[in-house]
Amino acid sequence: METREKLITRIIEREKQKLDDTSVIGGFSAFLRNWLAQRTEKEALEFIPLLEEYPTLGVQKKRELLLRMEAFLQGKTEVNSPRQLPKNPPPDLRQPVRYLKGVGPALEKKLNRLEVYTVEDLLYFFPRAYRDRGQVKPIRKLTGGKSMETVQGKVIAHKHQYTRKGVLLKIVVSDGTGTVTLVCFNRNYLAQVLRRGTPLLLWGTFQRSAQGWETANFDFQVGEHQSTSFERIVPVYSLTEGLNPKRLRSIVLGALDQFLPLVEEVLPLTIREKYEFPAKKEAIRELHCPTTWEEDLNRRRSRAHLALIFEEFLLFALSLKMRRLRMDTVRVKPFPVRSALVERFLETLPFALTTAQRRVYEEIVGDLASGRVMNRLVQGDVGSGKTIVALLSALHVIDCGRQVAFMVPTEILAEQHYLRSRDLLSSLGVRVHLLKGGVNKEKKMLLEKIAQGEVDLVIGTHALIEEKVAFKDLGLVIVDEQHRFGVIQRARLKEKATIPHTLVMTATPIPRTLALTLYGDLDISIIDEKPAGRKPIETLCFSLQERFKAYQRLRKKVEEGRQGYVVCPAIEESEEEISNVKEILELLRSKWMAGFQVEMIHGRLPSREKEEIMRRFERGEIQVLVATSVIEVGIDVPNASVMVIENAERFGLAQLHQLRGRIGRGPRESLCILLASLNGEDVRQRMQVMVSTNDGFRIAEEDLRLRGPGEFYGVRQHGVPEFRLANPLEDWSILEKAHNEAEFILRKDPSLGNEYVTLRKAIEQRFGRYLFLGEIG
Ligand code: ADP
Ligand code: MG
Repeated sequence: METREKLITRIIEREKQKLDDTSVIGGFSAFLRNWLAQRTEKEALEFIPLLEEYPTLGVQKKRELLLRMEAFLQGKTEVNSPRQLPKNPPPDLRQPVRYLKGVGPALEKKLNRLEVYTVEDLLYFFPRAYRDRGQVKPIRKLTGGKSMETVQGKVIAHKHQYTRKGVLLKIVVSDGTGTVTLVCFNRNYLAQVLRRGTPLLLWGTFQRSAQGWETANFDFQVGEHQSTSFERIVPVYSLTEGLNPKRLRSIVLGALDQFLPLVEEVLPLTIREKYEFPAKKEAIRELHCPTTWEEDLNRRRSRAHLALIFEEFLLFALSLKMRRLRMDTVRVKPFPVRSALVERFLETLPFALTTAQRRVYEEIVGDLASGRVMNRLVQGDVGSGKTIVALLSALHVIDCGRQVAFMVPTEILAEQHYLRSRDLLSSLGVRVHLLKGGVNKEKKMLLEKIAQGEVDLVIGTHALIEEKVAFKDLGLVIVDEQHRFGVIQRARLKEKATIPHTLVMTATPIPRTLALTLYGDLDISIIDEKPAGRKPIETLCFSLQERFKAYQRLRKKVEEGRQGYVVCPAIEESEEEISNVKEILELLRSKWMAGFQVEMIHGRLPSREKEEIMRRFERGEIQVLVATSVIEVGIDVPNASVMVIENAERFGLAQLHQLRGRIGRGPRESLCILLASLNGEDVRQRMQVMVSTNDGFRIAEEDLRLRGPGEFYGVRQHGVPEFRLANPLEDWSILEKAHNEAEFILRKDPSLGNEYVTLRKAIEQRFGRYLFLGEIG
């Protein structure tokens, strides 16, 4: 391969870790499109339209596309026939699963649906539970109740029960001593897997029914219990439609035979001995084929589990700490503790700072005056007043003649921050500018000015991390609403500064121990107080059929002079029963809001139009804004005090909380109405949480409880790579140990150059070099 292609391959590799279009400054897909456009191969050109959609594709589609790109780059395969892969390459854990015996394109697709793409993914695709075969009971002897019981039998019949919501599949199993009916809620695919006559081993909780026993909570393994194998412990894998467990099992066993020898030991021997961890190869095998039965297997606490979880955490902790260590060695000129400019600004503010705002500002000043590089995270619930704290810090730095970059996640928000700060700061002589994406003459001039040091504060989106933005003397980088940016982007922006102080603002509430871990390279400040005088937000929940009630209330508020938002999950017609911006706009204009100014705003509008609409909304010329969740972050229009959220069930709780945070910002009472399709107990519960509290922390906790940590923290959301087996919330005690070990290791060998070279290599592979090698200084 040419070197250029090698570079692209590396970029794709990096993009695969986060899939958020950020592996290249200015956007991965845009970069690749440019590159492809210069190629002559027909295949290359075919990728271009696909890449245009890249940012909006789902995770799976993205991966598929990246894999095809990689195949294309290897130059040995045709783009449109993914069947052809290079023949007999040397075995490598990062090969697509299709290289495994017995895996063809169809099966590969199914595995991809389970997020298994490479051989390594498959080795890490561990059973989600284990069952002890030793405890099979005759059905006649079942006791029922809450505890798990095991039986064995054959499928004797399928039944279909017609309900209001469709057909419910029931499968009857018999062992000669009695029958068990499997109630297959949302598992219609089981009709294919469990055909009549299929022998199976079954675990579940059973209830007595008119026809014998019944269960809706069960797991199974297909096969004759005596004849399939002599394994006593049966691993249960997560399955997908059409993937037969026996088949999966045999592929996994094949992969273990062929590829396990390639797995390299990562943990230092001293650590393995100290914690009695098995070797990595052994641990992986043990999880697929346990040799001894222990309940810990099902609690993810067996030795093998602990070893692998520990490894993931150790690498992660090391990468963050190394990054931090390197930054701490940089000495910079300390800022003075006082700033006349800040004091003048505070005098012009129409309100006094809250105690929490003041404290956090002082912590920031402490950093700036320390002679070390600041790396601080400011966490505060929506509406706690983070922007002012950011501006104070900016002024402090500008007062010393340095420049500040303020990075926000959306153009709409950039625009708003710009207008606000310009109003607040121009009387102080501070030169504020807005940097937008795209290329034009105006922007060229602005870039020139930034490079000359004629701009003090630059506000922008990720356009700020484009390579072409050169600062004369960048002193501070502020990243607002961190959950939209990743570690890598932070690292990039720092590359622009000789002295890269960083301030990160987030509204995502994270328990402190977890924050220390996920943001191991940052110090943390918390704004735990909201400005006084805020009226609470009343939240109501209606079913979609009661939409008219929501609109009646909206209209009433608007007639009283308030403004409002209507949030929809889609821009235009997509799925049935999903509200979209365009239709709702029509409905409101023609019916509910006739006589008032109603406009729409969403990410696909040209930025000029977005700006115009936001300006008119802020000036009160628009009464109702129909929007997508683009307004989720940051927007602050105090007179807007009503919000209707359509299909609220489609949003996560954290996101609903962010959305709702757009209202309740003024001195008047606010109203938030959730319109949800309320069939389903979990939707009801989630809506109830929103109705009952406005406390971001509580909502976060409830969300955790209801949906599990993956969804809520969606570690990806923080720009931290996802863990394979480890779960920072459940495994935090292991995480703490890993942190301590990481510290110990780094004290001995701060650059992992000598004894710990293996660890360094593993970190590079796993988390990408940016996590700890981001250039600084
Ligand atoms: P967030 O933390 O969600 O980013 P903002 O910075 O947007 O919150 O602040 C929300 C609103 O509160 C803004 O309108 C801001 O002007 C106002 N505000 C901030 N600090 C105070 C304060 N100390 N007293 C009164 N209002 C404040
Ligand atoms: Mg904000």
